[in-house]
Amino acid sequence: MDLLRHAELSRRAVLAAAFVPLVGCAREPSAPAGGAGATAASPTEGGQGSGAPDDEASPSGTPEETGTKDDGEQAAELAGDDPVLLALVAAFTPGWLPPEAPDPEPTRIFDNVTVVGTDFVSATAVETSDGVILIDALESREQAADILVPELRSLGVDPARIKYVVVAHGHADHFGGAQYLADKYGARVLMSPTDWDVAAEDSSPDVPERDLEIADGQRLTLGGTTMRLPYTPGHTPGTVSPIFPVWWNGRRHTAMLWGGTGLPEPTSGKRDYLRSVIDYAALMRRSGVDVELSNHGQTDAGLDRMRALRDGTAGDQNPFVLGRARAQRFMQVLELLVRDKLEG
Ligand SMILES: [Zn+2]
Repeated sequence: MDLLRHAELSRRAVLAAAFVPLVGCAREPSAPAGGAGATAASPTEGGQGSGAPDDEASPSGTPEETGTKDDGEQAAELAGDDPVLLALVAAFTPGWLPPEAPDPEPTRIFDNVTVVGTDFVSATAVETSDGVILIDALESREQAADILVPELRSLGVDPARIKYVVVAHGHADHFGGAQYLADKYGARVLMSPTDWDVAAEDSSPDVPERDLEIADGQRLTLGGTTMRLPYTPGHTPGTVSPIFPVWWNGRRHTAMLWGGTGLPEPTSGKRDYLRSVIDYAALMRRSGVDVELSNHGQTDAGLDRMRALRDGTAGDQNPFVLGRARAQRFMQVLELLVRDKLEG
């Protein structure tokens, strides 16, 4: 038992290390205020006149400097007693490791969204009338076979309907099960080109064969559901953070999923991360994002919120629906936490 526990803790340390990746930055010198920012609409998207608002690279996400408080204190203050924001603050505490927790039960968190996985990492299935877009694929072929597939089935999601696996970034805990799903169900695997490169360097035996490349801001449409795939470099140079519609009791909301949480070591990577947080918060505002999701459910109290939904303790409320203002506050807290690390 002790040995098992030791092995488990070691695994966690390794996984937590994966939170802090390698790389500097390969981001396009993107979009300083104004002009060139129109990039977010990709050439592959089929041009629904949505390009318009995208070039407003508003700096309004920048927090005001207030007095002598450092950014970390401001982040904690802004988080207040909000459990979602407090979890985020905790996850940025130096030396933080995901606490041991039981693996969550698979949970339908929206009418069209199911979350499966372990206490450490999750995969998010978005159902459409023409199949499933899966965001991330857990850590390995084994987890895909033993956890992802049966858990999806248990909630009535047919894994054979997975058409796309959108891998948010090129670390093994996100791509590990992707090739299994490609081999077994013919799913196409998507990553940003830079993170295909990151994945290719990984020591995992389950690096998927290079397949589709995500362009910055690309829209992926399946069965009338369109998922937007903006780059949010930082955690890795090609992290992607999807934005997509979700329904709860028949009512439409707009969700974001922050694709990579841990801060990179190099200062340049932290700067990229900060820029991504600010740009993405602006995109969230323009897109009316009111739902916050993560692929690491201990960094945003996601596991607790899943449990509340399953237990019915959330009542009529869906705890993933933060509302637009609170979703913005999530990003403000994240921004302060990154600034704190940049300065510290
Ligand atoms: Zn990662």
